Amino acid sequence: MKIEAAVVHEVNGPYLIEEVELAAPRADEVLVKVSASGICHTDVGAQKGDFGNIFPIVLGHEGSGVVMEAGSGVKEFKPGDRVAMSFSWCGECPACSTGRSWGCSRLYDLNFAGHDYYGGTPLSRNGERVSCFFGQSSFASHAVVHKNNLVRVPDGMDLRIAAPVGCGIQTGAGSVLNYLRPVPGNGIVVSGCGGVGMSALMAARLCGCDPIVAVDVVDSRLELALELGATRAVNAKRENPVQAVHELTGGRGVEYAVECSGIGECIRTAVNCTGAFGVIAVCGAAYDLRINFHEEVTAMHRTLTGIIEGHSNPKLFIPKLLSFYEKGLFPIDKLIKFYDFKDIEQAVEDSVQGIALKPVLVMGS
Ligand SMILES: [Zn+2]
Ligand SMILES: [Zn+2]
Repeated sequence: MKIEAAVVHEVNGPYLIEEVELAAPRADEVLVKVSASGICHTDVGAQKGDFGNIFPIVLGHEGSGVVMEAGSGVKEFKPGDRVAMSFSWCGECPACSTGRSWGCSRLYDLNFAGHDYYGGTPLSRNGERVSCFFGQSSFASHAVVHKNNLVRVPDGMDLRIAAPVGCGIQTGAGSVLNYLRPVPGNGIVVSGCGGVGMSALMAARLCGCDPIVAVDVVDSRLELALELGATRAVNAKRENPVQAVHELTGGRGVEYAVECSGIGECIRTAVNCTGAFGVIAVCGAAYDLRINFHEEVTAMHRTLTGIIEGHSNPKLFIPKLLSFYEKGLFPIDKLIKFYDFKDIEQAVEDSVQGIALKPVLVMGS
């Protein structure tokens, strides 16, 4: 069928909304009419070709929508079902077989390599191959998605708000709720208060963490962090976060840190905000880190680890987050700014500039 999609034709090229051909769903796939899609920093990186992406490509990996058609092998979804889309996982490798889909051995292959589960792509334009992304390519009016990627969204839940839960929000919240699992009274530092960091912070408040220290360099973000549950905000341009945390904790440091900026120096700062036996979860895509590993990690019995997709099994974790939202415990709407699909360039720009914490493109109802 003919659909509308935002196509990026080359590295750093603009998003051009064009007519594209979308193949029919196969046995294990579902055709979804896209309602909305969040924009994640991974989309911004892919537009620059950071992941070796093959162009032209349709990006977008935080989609939501309504099922129009389900393949013969799909029992879980039927036309009319409201769904959110998350990342691709194979379901067969050792990690997937043991319930750890976030560690799927085909994670890169299925999400970044430009093809779907079957090695092809459902997208083409004038007979030319167009790469897909995360098995979704949700910057489009419609998407063909494997059943593994899909999670049902309850009636009454706004699909525009459910959309970004599929990646950024579950990454931040999952790093706290699935991996760190603090108990009430544990202290935590959240470094980098974008969409992922704010989600980690809201999860820390759900767990009863105290203190919750938000670290960023933008005052407006820190104000929102305080509104969402931070007990102390530190602007790292004006104040040393390690010193601030030590003053708050009688010199002991906090139990946990979540680092979302992806900047090596900030990871090192987050490490040193924790005390002995501290655990530091790094969610941002960081490439270089200079640290005295013996003094700052080993001798302090600290654990420094990287987290992908918040150690989340989306089919189990996303419904939990949506129910927290519905109960008023997880106000993700405070992070979201809506844009018409046609304004995708502006939405991406606002995301890069930090004007919008979590831009969400709206394709339809
Ligand atoms: Zn797998
Ligand atoms: Zn993402």
